[in-house]
Order: sequence, then structure tokens, then C-alpha cells
Amino acid sequence: MLADMNIGFVGLGRMGAAMAQNLLRAGHRVAVYNRSGGKAEALVSQGAREADSPADACQGSEAVLTMLADDRALEHVVFGENGIAAALGEGTHISCSTISTAMARRLAAAHAERGQGYLSAPVFGRPEAAEAKTLLVMPAGQTALVERYRPLFEAMGRRIFVVGAEPWQANAVKLCGNFMIASMLETFGEAFATLRKANVEPHVFLEIMSVFFGSPVYANYGRLIADQQFDPAGFTLRLAHKDIRLVLEVAEECAAPMPIASLIRDRFLSAMAHGQGELDWSSLTKVAARNAGLD
Ligand code: NAP
Repeated sequence: MLADMNIGFVGLGRMGAAMAQNLLRAGHRVAVYNRSGGKAEALVSQGAREADSPADACQGSEAVLTMLADDRALEHVVFGENGIAAALGEGTHISCSTISTAMARRLAAAHAERGQGYLSAPVFGRPEAAEAKTLLVMPAGQTALVERYRPLFEAMGRRIFVVGAEPWQANAVKLCGNFMIASMLETFGEAFATLRKANVEPHVFLEIMSVFFGSPVYANYGRLIADQQFDPAGFTLRLAHKDIRLVLEVAEECAAPMPIASLIRDRFLSAMAHGQGELDWSSLTKVAARNAGLD
């Protein structure tokens, strides 16, 4: 196993800062960059080098990881001025962001044209999981590249699932997974609204469901909803809305109808229209509550 690599990390948001920290803890030499200032300081105090552009983060790095908001951010950071594509040499770009399958294909083709490697490696888990190194990491792309960079995935997560040979397949898996969580939020919202009107204490229902389903996803999101704890956000509703839009694009590409995803997209639109974009995505449940005439 390659113990220490020179790598770049671009995007130090809620997820990226914690992931970069775990790469440092595993002994890798990490050059970090974030568009807005002030987000690299804690990492620099732990040994990271602060780069002054995405291109600078590529200097001397065999791989650069990105953890950015969306397609638009990737477009800017990879193909824009002082971007990754022009500076990566023969290195590899590992994109961990939740992006469209179309963007993943575009990145794979553009890097290949330049003799560079590309992997998609999206993750499941919230910022607390990123910090605790308990993410599920889902790389896809050429087997040799996946194996070469496995130590990086192991430094960030508790389980690694190799999805397939085409990078975009990992993005499709990630989007379908978020669709499953959003569906759970919607059903929790409808059930909680009904039970509140039936004068049942939400935490009692939560406890029963947590035992019955036996899933930390149910238990953790259920608690946020029962406690109405939507701020600060672990994952913003604005970014979750992006993911539902993107899973519908995959459905369209594959000619596979996803009627529940279509309904949930409208629920997200309603939540956005009520100013919930910066709240946690579990606040989607407020839509069902409003529909039931509750606060
Ligand atoms: P976040 O806290 O909002 O961070 C977004 C990052 O993207 C920041 O570093 C931001 O830079 C950067 N960015 C946004 N637009 C940019 C642009 N045009 N140019 C350059 N940089 C730009 O989001 P997050 O929660 O960490 O999520 C990051 C990615 O992980 C998303 O794709 C999300 O869907 C995915 N994800 C999130 C979670 C979660 O629970 N939060 C879990 C799994 C996957 P600034 O600091 O300058 O704004």
C-alpha cells in the first residue's frame, strides 16, 4: 500500500474540510484550496499547504480530489481560469461531489483527452460521518486507478464499494441513494403530520420505527424531524433539491420512470418557495405539516 501521497484537495465546505483532514491524518501530503478564504486555516495548522488556486493545488500532486457543491462549481474549478484540467499533467482527478451523470461523462472524456485519469467517488454520510471517517465511499472508473487510490478512499471512509468501470455509474448510484433518503423524509413527514393531529407524541413513533427498521438512517433523520432540528444544516435543502433534479435526469436518460421522485421534486420546490433552502433537507417534512394545516 502506498502510505503517503502528494495530493490536492479542492472544496473545503461541510464535507470537504473533514475529508481533507482525514487524508492528512492518514499521512498524505495535502495541498488544499477553497474559493472563499478562511476555510483552510485549521487544515494548515495540521500540516496542509494552502494553495492559491485549483491549479496550484495540482502542483506536485499525483491526484486531486474535489468536493464541490454542484456541476457549475466543477465546471468553474476544472475548466475555468487556473483550473485543474490545464494543471494536472498526467495526474488523476477524483470527484467526490454529487454531480450529474452527464458532468461525470464530460469530466472523464476531457481528462482522457489530456492523458489524465478520472474517477468518480461520491460518498454517503453527513459531515459528522466525514469527520468520524465513517463515510461509504463509492469509486467507479478504471480498475487500476481505483486500486491505486484505494488508500485515499480508506482514509476517508469505513467501507469502499467499487461500483463499475464507468465513473458516471457511481454518480447514478449516489443520486438513487439520495432519492431513497428523500422518499424516507417525505414518508416520515406525512406520518408525523398525521400523528401530530392524532395527538401522538412524535418521539414515541420515532422509537418504534427505529427499532422496527433497525437503520441509523431512520433513527438519525427521525430524531432531527421529531426534534424539529433543521438549523444548522448538515446537508442543505438547496443541494438536496439539486440531487432530485439530477436523479430525474438519470431516469430520463435510462427511460425508467420515477413517479415518486417527480412528486418529491415538487415537495422540494414548495420547501424552497417557503425559504427553506439553507435549512437541513430533513425540513422537507415541513411541507407535509403545512399541508395538514400544522405550523
Ligand atoms: P457546502 O458546505 O455548501 O460546500 C460547497 C463547496 O463548494 C464549498 O467549498 C464552496 O466554496 C464550493 N463551491 C460552490 N460553488 C463554487 C464555485 N462556483 N466555484 C468554486 N467553488 C465552489 O456543501 P457540502 O455539504 O460540503 O457538499 C459538497 C458536495 O457533497 C455536494 O455535491 C453535496 O451534494 C455532496 N454531499 C453532501 C453531503 C452532506 O451531508 N452535506 C453528504 C454527501 C455528499 P465556498 O466556501 O467558497 O462557497
